Amino acid sequence: MELTRKLEILADAAKYDASCASSGTEMRDSSDGKGLGSTAPGMGICHSYAPDGRCISLLKILLTNACNYDCLYCVNRASSNVPRARFTVDEVVKLTIDFYRRNYIEGLFLSSGIIRSPDYTMEQVVSVARKLREEHHFRGYIHLKTIPEADDALIAEAGKYADRLSINIETPLETSLTQLAPEKDQRAIRRTMGRLRLKLDEADDAKKTIRKARPPRFAPAGQSTQMIIGADSADDRTILSTSANLYGAYKLRRVYYSAFSPIPDASRALPLQAPPLVREHRLYQADWLMRFYGFDAEEIVDEGAGMLPLDIDPKLAWALRHRDRFPLDVNKASREELLRVPGFGTRTVERIIATRRSTSIRLADLARLHVIRNKALPFIVLSDHRPAPATLDAAGLRTRLRPKPQQLGFGF
Ligand code: SF4
Repeated sequence: MELTRKLEILADAAKYDASCASSGTEMRDSSDGKGLGSTAPGMGICHSYAPDGRCISLLKILLTNACNYDCLYCVNRASSNVPRARFTVDEVVKLTIDFYRRNYIEGLFLSSGIIRSPDYTMEQVVSVARKLREEHHFRGYIHLKTIPEADDALIAEAGKYADRLSINIETPLETSLTQLAPEKDQRAIRRTMGRLRLKLDEADDAKKTIRKARPPRFAPAGQSTQMIIGADSADDRTILSTSANLYGAYKLRRVYYSAFSPIPDASRALPLQAPPLVREHRLYQADWLMRFYGFDAEEIVDEGAGMLPLDIDPKLAWALRHRDRFPLDVNKASREELLRVPGFGTRTVERIIATRRSTSIRLADLARLHVIRNKALPFIVLSDHRPAPATLDAAGLRTRLRPKPQQLGFGF
């Protein structure tokens, strides 16, 4: 099979994996004339996104889409009637180098169907990274998918060459994984995440203690995972609580949420329709609230509902459910309180805190502080602004604050 045809099949087969952002790795460059590639700002960071919001600046491919497993939600499952292809290790290396030289990509995201055995597959994936780093001195970004059952030595080697490693948790509920992916075992997945965490901690400790020699390298951009949304009955509350547990237990850098896409000849156990893309977006917003805004998973979703509202963002929804906590005096409130105001981002809060050390904040300052004014005004008090007492109690406030349809963004 021609290389271009293989690329067509194996890039298409990889498009369902959402976990491809490359932020947070160590800095490397090749300005010394040695090596190839760079993770310097503007080079190793993914800036390009497909219209559906997915990052596209890494060469994102599978080594093969043949697979021994039969995960019902996966287009590459053993029983799927799709054309199959397989790259050799050298072909992936060549493509990565060629694409990098042509400035098409800044790095490689490599995953694979499981062939022969988890160890054999992992060895093939690791060989690509080893060749790129050791034979071609490639210094761009490498993200490798880890096979949960693979041998510890292979995982250690993967971490030596990759910037980021990831293992997909697949479904929010262990019971769904048993039903939808019988060959997979969520306990094995979590065990491997635990092994990765130990190695990441060891590498961090070594960085602190080994001063002169170079500390052993292990996946400096950490580990991430992906959860499929809408393939099972898990509600948003369950999904967020699984994410909170993963962040806490395994120090994940990111949990990616991937809305389930119906696949050809799908099993009856799967829904016929994809969940609305906005659900995926609301989950990302809620995830940010947990990671950067001090929210607990349990408080983000309305207790009785189980699902995030789709028409407004989760922080605004929380504020509307807790109107008794507002309006908040921006000149006196704590950082934690300010982070909960709709229309205030994390940088806005830092700007507010810096500004109010020297002057009292007024309406005219809001634009400079990057406050989303219409969203914030009903919830805040400034030196020259106090919302009318009835504003917060108004039944129509939610309708008034509901955004007009537009491209999705993180507009907290
Ligand atoms: S292991 Fe499951 S999810 Fe991964 S490629 Fe094979 S069938 Fe797809």
